[in-house]
Amino acid sequence: MIPHNKPTLDEKEIEAIQEVILSGWVANGEKVKNFERDFCKYLGFNSNCAVAVSSGTAGLFLALKAIGVGENDEVILPTYVCSAVLNAIYMAQAKPILVDIDDKDFNISFDLVNQLINQRTKALIIPHTYGVPIDIHRIKNIGIPIIEDCAQAIGSKIGDDYAGTIGDISVFSFYATKVITTGNGGMVLTQRKEYIDRLKDYLDFDYRENYYPRFNFLMSDIQGAMGISQLGKLDYLLKKREEIADCYMSICQEKGWDFQRPRQNTLKQNHYRFVIKSESSLINKLKDYLDSREIRTIIPIEKKELLHNYLGLDSSRFYVSQKIAETTLSLPAYPQLVVNGDIEKIVDVLRGF
Ligand SMILES: *Cc1c(COP(=O)(O)O)cnc(C)c1O
Repeated sequence: MIPHNKPTLDEKEIEAIQEVILSGWVANGEKVKNFERDFCKYLGFNSNCAVAVSSGTAGLFLALKAIGVGENDEVILPTYVCSAVLNAIYMAQAKPILVDIDDKDFNISFDLVNQLINQRTKALIIPHTYGVPIDIHRIKNIGIPIIEDCAQAIGSKIGDDYAGTIGDISVFSFYATKVITTGNGGMVLTQRKEYIDRLKDYLDFDYRENYYPRFNFLMSDIQGAMGISQLGKLDYLLKKREEIADCYMSICQEKGWDFQRPRQNTLKQNHYRFVIKSESSLINKLKDYLDSREIRTIIPIEKKELLHNYLGLDSSRFYVSQKIAETTLSLPAYPQLVVNGDIEKIVDVLRGF
């Protein structure tokens, strides 16, 4: 059976974790500090611009807190995104304002964002959906803090800039299914010192002068060591993912199938996912066909999961998301497929459909 996703882990991670365990220090410490430093360096920032956290969701919550988002503040986000983003907004006691997406890249519609901004808008959360980046430069000067959700977009580029380096603050995830993983984990990245100070203050609650609610969203050194190892492989992993995408693009061309792609050709994706777009009847048939040949695919976000449906809002304002949810299929896309030759098998099976 070929699974839809799989982390790329080997002896390097085993050795890194073993070293931490044998050192006797497994909590948040030097390894996490080094991971934060390496992360900044990879993205071209000074070494003190990142704070490692326990998950991407925790990172989104902390980014909202760093900005100062609180009760009754409005936060704009797309309806087409995992509910983790909505959870972070509610945790911060803010009010989510949902927006529809573009049907080419599945990213937030800037035109609609502009219409929804008002005095209560305190932040925008902009995900780079499935690693396909959106040009943040276009709304950078909107006057409201921008949180780039890079949970799926590490290594994606907007011109010469990495995704996550343009907005005011950005959040990455190292969950098991993401491009690099620490099991669970996340990173918050920002060049604003006042944000970094607030993040660190929130996470550090022992021996304080005065009390206010803080919380433990720390990463452990076991995860930190794993992260250092994974980050060291990132360029290799991105190359392998590109090879997979090239294979899928050529079969799509043969078949006349459309797929999710960036809005402009200056945007470079990390190929976190390869998502086919077609009528729902073909999508369902293709999914069953691949299933019967032991190749697992997923509908990346189903209609019922769209945030406006979870919240019981009128779906007519979210036409594109409704349509995309019913006309997309995500194919297996992880580096090991090129190493073990499974990608050729999948392409052959697709050719026979
Ligand atoms: C995975 C993901 C998150 C949440 O990250 P976790 O580490 O799983 O908490 C948030 N936003 C997007 C777009 C994601 O893909």
